[in-house]
Amino acid sequence: MNIYSAIIYGAKILKDNLIKNPYLDSEILMMKAIEEDRKYILLNYKMDLNKKDLNTFQKLINKRSIGKPIAYLINKKFFWNSEFILSDDILIPRPDTELIIEKVLDLTANKNKLNVLEIGIGSGCILLSILKERKSFYGTGIDISKSCLKISKLNAIKLKVRSKLKLFKSNVDKFNLGKYDLIISNPPYIKNFDLKYLEKDVARFEPKLALDGGLDGLSAIRKVIKKSSDLIKKNGRFVLEIAFDQKYEVISLLKKEGFYINSINKDLANNDRCIVCTKI
Ligand code: GLN
Repeated sequence: MNIYSAIIYGAKILKDNLIKNPYLDSEILMMKAIEEDRKYILLNYKMDLNKKDLNTFQKLINKRSIGKPIAYLINKKFFWNSEFILSDDILIPRPDTELIIEKVLDLTANKNKLNVLEIGIGSGCILLSILKERKSFYGTGIDISKSCLKISKLNAIKLKVRSKLKLFKSNVDKFNLGKYDLIISNPPYIKNFDLKYLEKDVARFEPKLALDGGLDGLSAIRKVIKKSSDLIKKNGRFVLEIAFDQKYEVISLLKKEGFYINSINKDLANNDRCIVCTKI
C-alpha cells in the first residue's frame, strides 16, 4: 500500500469511529509512523510503505480510534512558541493556558532577573515558555509527579533554559524554599463529580492527578493560594488559572490571604480563566 492510500484508509477508520478530524489525524499519524514531515509525505505520496511502517501506522490508527489524543500518540504538543515533549501521564498543554503567558509578559515587560515559581509544573509549558521569553529570569518548578519533573527537565534542555531552572519533587504543602517575585499555577480544578463529564478523550486518557480538584474543585487551589501567600515577596505577582465558575470563590480565598486582585481574564471561549493578583 502506498502512503496516500494508507492515509485515506486510516482516515476512513477514524471517521467510522467518530473522530473529529479524521484526515488530518491520519496524516499526522503517518508522519509519526514513517518519521518524516508533511513535505516528505506530499512529495512521496505514491511511495510504497514497508511492512514495518504500515504496521506502526495501523497501531497508531487503532489507538486514535478509541480516542487516545494525538498529542500522546506523537508525544508532543505545540504551546506558545515551542514544541513540548509529552508522555501519557502528563496533562496536554491547552491553548487557553497561553493566557497566563500573555499576562505574565504584559506584567514583566521591563523587569529583569525575576525569581519565578511554578506550582505543579506538568510538562513545563508555562514556566519554560516564560523563561524562554524573559532570558534574565530564574525559574523554580515543583510537582508531585516524578514523570512531570523528568519531562519538564527534557523540555528545559530542548528550549535551552535548563541552566535557569531548578526542579523539586514536592507536595505544595511541604515546599518552603525561597521567596519569589512571581508565582504561577494551573492546578487541578475540576470538581471530582464532573471528571466523568469531561470530553471523552480527556476523561479517559488524561491524568486525573492534573485535573481532579476534589469535591468542590478547589482543594488544590486552596493549598496553592495559601502556599503562594507564604512564598511570595511583598508586591509580588501571582497568576492563577481557574475553572470558568470559580471566580467568586477564588477571589474571596485570595483576599483572605492578602492578595489584591488586579484582573480576571477571559479565555478563547470567553470564560473567566486566569486571575492576576498582587501580594500586599
Ligand atoms: N482546562 C483543563 C480542562 O478543561 C483542566 C486543567 C486543570 O484542571 N488545571 O480539561
